[in-house]
Amino acid sequence: MERTELIKLKCDLLINGLRLAELRTDLTKEHGWDSERAKRFQPAELKMPKEVCVQIRENSEANFRLRIMENSLVVQDKAGNIICTSDFVNLPPFGLEKTSDGTLFKDIVVYNGSCNLNFTWNYFCDYFRTKTACRFCNLTPAQDFYPEENITNSYKNAVQIADVIEIAKKYHTDPKAILTRGTPHEKHGLGGTVQILEELAKRFPFNGDNGRTKVLFTISPSKDINDVKLMYELGMHSVSFNFEVFDRGYWKAIVPGKDKHIGRDLWEASLIEAVKYFGEGRVFSAMIAGLEPRHTLLQGVEWCTERGIIPIVVPFSPETGSEFEGFRPPTHKWMTDTMRMSADIILKKMSLIGTEDYWLKEAPICAECFTGGFIYDIIKENASLVNYHSGHKMNKTQVLSAAKDLINLN
Ligand code: SF4
Repeated sequence: MERTELIKLKCDLLINGLRLAELRTDLTKEHGWDSERAKRFQPAELKMPKEVCVQIRENSEANFRLRIMENSLVVQDKAGNIICTSDFVNLPPFGLEKTSDGTLFKDIVVYNGSCNLNFTWNYFCDYFRTKTACRFCNLTPAQDFYPEENITNSYKNAVQIADVIEIAKKYHTDPKAILTRGTPHEKHGLGGTVQILEELAKRFPFNGDNGRTKVLFTISPSKDINDVKLMYELGMHSVSFNFEVFDRGYWKAIVPGKDKHIGRDLWEASLIEAVKYFGEGRVFSAMIAGLEPRHTLLQGVEWCTERGIIPIVVPFSPETGSEFEGFRPPTHKWMTDTMRMSADIILKKMSLIGTEDYWLKEAPICAECFTGGFIYDIIKENASLVNYHSGHKMNKTQVLSAAKDLINLN
């Protein structure tokens, strides 16, 4: 199967989900699992051939399903045809280590693919209290829907985050991380961001633009535009102020908290200000494909790329507990066409993003390990970039010794 076909399959799996019922039957009937264990089995990510990795979103009505055939994990269509082989993405060897306060890493960070560390370090967003939450978001209510995950949903402090990155640096040449949080009450300003930046700067000193720890902070700008400079000076590598939707009418309706508390003009000004300090390639804004007409979304992609801001275009996936629960995403064709058009604009206006050098030296995230979207898979494919994970391999000696330790522990 060609890589472009696998990327299309990734789109289908993200918007329509994946059936897991048959896999659970295979596990009980042919691999000796008891039914309770199989029922609880919720794999997070799938690695398909040619380094195409995708989040697993279970849906009993999905177009594709997972099976175990002759001891191999395969993706099948509804008629039972095997589409491709696949594998689960395992925890990295340091996944079971602990922070200095004894918390398991797996309760601090989610590992996306093999390179991206994904921290949601504060699930509290004040917009849920003020009833102005973004309509597609379930961040704070998710704590009630997934009570068994309450430990992982608890607040993660600066030392815990730095502990994880410090260990990851022993295995990866250059680990990359995304740090996400809800928006704090306005009196709390940057709400813990400064403490994290100070801890990272203490552990991993940097010199000007060089040597900054590759972390993408997805946060709201504050009311004081001078905070953009402060964040840069404290050592932040990259920042994402997410539009979510670009059209101003949809913005008011879908992200009322952002509109009321920060306002659209300051949001745009903060993004432009950020490029002044961080530079092209280190400022981002996420936009959700499927919440507004295609042409306004593409206007947003143009607006960003003309100003040196990288759009993170992600497919809409209605979340449990959000006000869009039960909605449907657009069709597969709408989504793939829209992503291709967005990728064309990005490559045309920001040629930097189509270079191996960018993904190797500058990018705070790994394109292939961005498992919740496929815009960067398309961009790399269209730019003929084949250095998947940017040659970002784990240190083999360290991995082997960690594996031996784990075997001894068991
Ligand atoms: S600002 Fe919007 S998207 Fe971000 S956590 Fe709050 S409600 Fe969710």
